[in-house]
Amino acid sequence: MPATLLETDEHQALRAAVAAFGRRYGRDYLTRVQEEGGYPRDLWLEAAKLGYLGVNLPERYGGGGAGITELAIVLEELGAVGTPLLMMIVSPAICGTVISRFGTDAQRAEWLPALADGSRIMAFGITEPDAGSNSHRITTTARRDGTDWLLTGRKVFVSGVDIADATLIVGRAEDARTGSLKPCLFIVPRDAEGFTRRPIDMELRAAEKQFELTLDDVRLPAGALVGDEDAGLLQLFAGLNPERVMTAAFAIGMGRFALARAVEYARERTVWKTPIGAHQAIAHPLAQAHVELELARLMTRKAALLYDAGDDAGAGEAANMAKYAAGEACVRAVDQAVHTLGGNGLTREFGLASLVTAARVARIAPVSREMILNYVSHQSLGLPKSY
Ligand SMILES: Cc1cc2nc3c(=O)[nH]c(=O)nc-3n(C[C@H](O)[C@H](O)[C@H](O)COP(=O)(O)OP(=O)(O)OC[C@H]3O[C@@H](n4cnc5c(N)ncnc54)[C@H](O)[C@@H]3O)c2cc1C
Repeated sequence: MPATLLETDEHQALRAAVAAFGRRYGRDYLTRVQEEGGYPRDLWLEAAKLGYLGVNLPERYGGGGAGITELAIVLEELGAVGTPLLMMIVSPAICGTVISRFGTDAQRAEWLPALADGSRIMAFGITEPDAGSNSHRITTTARRDGTDWLLTGRKVFVSGVDIADATLIVGRAEDARTGSLKPCLFIVPRDAEGFTRRPIDMELRAAEKQFELTLDDVRLPAGALVGDEDAGLLQLFAGLNPERVMTAAFAIGMGRFALARAVEYARERTVWKTPIGAHQAIAHPLAQAHVELELARLMTRKAALLYDAGDDAGAGEAANMAKYAAGEACVRAVDQAVHTLGGNGLTREFGLASLVTAARVARIAPVSREMILNYVSHQSLGLPKSY
């Protein structure tokens, strides 16, 4: 395929190389790792060595010097061949972006080369049990003790804390001038005293586990605060747009994987005179799923393009819309894929049924379908708020 306006020859070469790399490991590798309760560390490390995980990070810190566009291509293609790496959404995309844009020189030097070469992973915790979608309500609080910080609070559903060397925790610190609480980001090492985790028993077949976290007066040095104390909200938003673009890429990859399995099956399976794929009741929903995934891809491309061009505000709307479109397209593609396989859609051998649950993650996290529709209602359409 020739280079298009949307993707350069380099982008298409990257897609092909990542897909070939993921295929070398294959779906069976990931299934085995999941069943053993492990983490696909070999895949992670080799992807990093090939420059895929740090493709968006600055070159002077060992990254590829490209953008979220390229990182999203990597995640989508890994997903499309059945070997997605969920922690890419968190470690290089959110944490890598926030640290490279706002971290101190010391934080950049300590973390970026390690995030790029895969030797260290960083998780991200914002969700709280009593706040959920309403992140304005988070209560994890940082108070000063000399030059240190003491962090106290609870987080829930935080992915990959067990395999992450540290978690980027969104808390609140008291503003010395106004006394009000403002958002701040802290790097909390996995083994910090007072930082405990409990795995949540999820009905998800995935290598990445979710955790409930308790922070009980976790003592952190001044250098654990990311960047500037007064720019917390700006820093947070800088990480959230890449998170939405990457979740969209994750969902599109999963949708493409499921759709490809279903199309392959529908071409062969014959129970009347023709393969089931000739019946329009099977063909049309598959065609529709393909159209919806392509539309979501286009919006994801737009969001990544705006983000990489430095338009944070434009990227905000586009990234939310891309995440919405991709989550919905993924849920429908997986649903139709399972249906296309009939009884085989529910067997472990064909491995599609577990994607029904996995696909729902893209509708719920990191921001739910309803909260995106709220955002579009208020921000794009100017409608009044109900809350
Ligand atoms: C697999 C998985 C991995 C995750 N990983 C992480 C992670 O690494 N780090 C992290 O911080 N979090 C993580 N999360 C948490 C995720 O971001 C939250 O689950 C999500 O933001 C929704 O919050 P909640 O679960 O508290 O739902 P709630 O906020 O309780 O919402 C429940 C339902 O009510 C709806 N609702 C809420 N308010 C409104 C409203 N105003 N209008 C209309 N509808 C509304 C929601 O759309 C949703 O359908 C993860 C979640 C999952 C499932």
